[in-house]
Amino acid sequence: MSVVFEPSLCVSCGRCASVCPGTLLEAGDGRPARILFPDDCWGCASCLKACPRRAVRLTLPPALGGLGGLLSCGREGGRLVWRLERPGREPADFPGDPEGEGGY
Ligand code: SF4
Ligand code: SF4
Repeated sequence: MSVVFEPSLCVSCGRCASVCPGTLLEAGDGRPARILFPDDCWGCASCLKACPRRAVRLTLPPALGGLGGLLSCGREGGRLVWRLERPGREPADFPGDPEGEGGY
């Protein structure tokens, strides 16, 4: 697993980098976020939950999302809303589990 960024959506707020427990991300100073060590990402999704713009997405293994499956996260009314994107299919949104949202 790793994460990919959409530079056109990124506002360089640095939130993703500040919550990554592995210090794997670089963001801020007006530059779009990027991952420095993609092989070290263990898919905790903290950066997804922190991003206010859905500018970061987690690459999913084929067994979960099919080849090219991506997961992102947004917020509606203060609650997490996850989005699964798969090639050739409409994006599917599903609400976060309040018991499992936790912190970062
Ligand atoms: S998914 Fe977790 S480990 Fe991977 S880059 Fe995001 S915050 Fe860091
Ligand atoms: S949290 Fe989102 S918008 Fe902010 S720097 Fe990271 S990817 Fe860009």
